[in-house]
Amino acid sequence: ARAREAEARALPARTRDGHTVSIGANINLPDQAAFALSQGAEGVGLMRTEFLFLERGESPSEDEQFDIYRAMAVALGNRPLIVRALDIGGDKQVAHLNLPHEENPFLGVRGARLLLRRPDLLEPQLRALYRAARAGASLSIMFPMITTAAEIVALRTVSERIRAEVEAPAVPLGIMIEVPAAALQAESLARHADFFSIGTNDLTQYTLAIDRQNPQLAAQADSLHPAVLRLIQATVAGAAKHDRWVGVCGGIAGDPFGAALLTGLGVQELSMTPREVPAVKARLRDSELTALHALAAQALACEAAEDVRALEGGMA
Ligand code: PEP
Ligand code: MG
Repeated sequence: ARAREAEARALPARTRDGHTVSIGANINLPDQAAFALSQGAEGVGLMRTEFLFLERGESPSEDEQFDIYRAMAVALGNRPLIVRALDIGGDKQVAHLNLPHEENPFLGVRGARLLLRRPDLLEPQLRALYRAARAGASLSIMFPMITTAAEIVALRTVSERIRAEVEAPAVPLGIMIEVPAAALQAESLARHADFFSIGTNDLTQYTLAIDRQNPQLAAQADSLHPAVLRLIQATVAGAAKHDRWVGVCGGIAGDPFGAALLTGLGVQELSMTPREVPAVKARLRDSELTALHALAAQALACEAAEDVRALEGGMA
């Protein structure tokens, strides 16, 4: 039975009517790659690099970062690897950076906003990533907390300069969609980004005005809220106008019902905690895309997250 289970995990997430969804893992370090692959992940959809900065008293050097990114690519045997540029601020504070106190850090200088103000953080990371690409790693770079087209244009300009300096090949540059403004302007952002990955943890927080860390509101912070689903739909529609692919790397991607619904909304890649991969794959393999499209249409018409959740019971 165990061998059969392992065999099933290795199968693609292909629906009964032949639609395939890419399945990635959210991991931070190369030594987690083997486990992710053993669970059936097809690559890494989100490498959270803050981790390299959070757990120590100083920033890792460019050379240390290069070693880690290259080791990750090697551990993945050149399967897809999406590395997210440093996402500091909000819930991710790094003491040794001595950043100024903010009254509302989730609405402050976080993610891309910090990267654009701190070339001393952004540039060594980009150099390390492009050096890894030059050394043969097939990676993509993803920027967090993008709100405006101007941010991605500015980040792309810096990236391109560093790529030229390092004499590296081009690398896909994607963005996270985690701010409602970005979802609503997805078409315009898609002109400047090669792919989108929706961060539903933050997108839910900003859409519903619920601090993602407030335990009193945790039950209401549901990424399947119809308002969040509409923003996901808008993101998929905007991306399609420029032939960009859309993934989801927030927590809801690892929930089998959530994964089914996201697939129905047109999301093409799902990235999740490694241990969630087998159940999500099994669920998608057991689904029909046509039924998932109908499910998504029903969910978008719902009034509340509970109504969306209740649709699960009605599914074949
Ligand atoms: C998200 O916001 O959904 C996400 C994947 O990023 P993080 O949880 O690291 O903020
Ligand atoms: Mg986020």
